[in-house]
Amino acid sequence: MASTLNPKPWIDAIHAYIPGKSGDDDGRPLVKLSANENPLGSSPQALAARAAAQVPSLYPDGDSTALREAIGQLHGIDPARIVMGTGSGELLHTATGAYAGPGDEVLYSQYAFSLYEIVARRCGAQPVEAPARDYANDVDALLAAVTPRTRVVLLANPNNPTGTFLPASEIARLHAGLPGDVLLVLDQAYAEYVAPEQDDGSLALAAHHANVLVTRTFSKAYGLAGERVGWGTGSEAVVGVLNRIRGAFNVSNSAQATALAALTDQAFVEHSRLHNAAERARFVAAIEALGNHGLRAVPSEANFALVLFEGALSAVTALNGLAARGYIVRHLPGQGLGHALRITVGTREQMDAIAAILRELAEAA
Ligand SMILES: *Cc1c(COP(=O)(O)O)cnc(C)c1O
Repeated sequence: MASTLNPKPWIDAIHAYIPGKSGDDDGRPLVKLSANENPLGSSPQALAARAAAQVPSLYPDGDSTALREAIGQLHGIDPARIVMGTGSGELLHTATGAYAGPGDEVLYSQYAFSLYEIVARRCGAQPVEAPARDYANDVDALLAAVTPRTRVVLLANPNNPTGTFLPASEIARLHAGLPGDVLLVLDQAYAEYVAPEQDDGSLALAAHHANVLVTRTFSKAYGLAGERVGWGTGSEAVVGVLNRIRGAFNVSNSAQATALAALTDQAFVEHSRLHNAAERARFVAAIEALGNHGLRAVPSEANFALVLFEGALSAVTALNGLAARGYIVRHLPGQGLGHALRITVGTREQMDAIAAILRELAEAA
């Protein structure tokens, strides 16, 4: 029967977020290097806390008080300036929806995180893409794309899916060039993978300016993607707005307990960072050795590398060849990256196997 029930037109224009696959089309499990999950799993302390968490019949603390206090202590932030989310994805939605709506523009870069378009459209705003430079966020292009309608700028640093990273000077230059009535959302999902001496200054910007929100997550280096915990920090005013519209009990009992224990195990996070840096470098070197076959890796500071296929071996052939051998990686043709594969840094064994398969495929192409 024909329905007269229609979603708002801007909702109708949304294409669903496509998560990384975890099995082949017949459901057989594959080695999943398509969703930037932590190959080392989770902290044993976090797993123990998860097993001992509050009974599910009770509502969680709606303010995630202990967790916010622990995050505040670790990062030197007043807990009043921290808002929790069901993953940082919830905060990207609530922040954008709080400051942008129909008639407004939400700005981000070409090759930005695919969720940003959904975030912009969900609140009825017009998504605007500034051109990237060498696959990286380009501050000049972003600033040139600002109009009187721009309300929110979304930028991931390191960026997903390219892995590129802007230094603190560039982040500061972007902020300084934005009008005060534009909210700059700095998405630091991969910040824990960046060496401390390379800090991009986002948390300091959020501490000192009314129009900056930084988002972080437990999904990546903390290895808790399945628990759905993220947090944000900005001015008390911005955090207060987000607290009014987020889900009232948005972080579950087990998620709060697990994340709290994970925070105290910084050795696990540090181990994850060092493992990632070493294996990413080793993998990138193996890709560079295939440069004569047209393979190249975009410089990455994240837990993945974007490999470009500019020779006889196409990204699709490589994607299928890897899948046939049990390795699933990410192809993003819908983002203008039909010639590339985003490959999460897994274990040494997995990365060596992928590099060997790519060499075989490149030599046969
Ligand atoms: C993975 C990722 C996130 C994290 O999403 P969660 O909802 O916290 O799991 C946020 N931003 C980017 C750019 C990401 O790649």
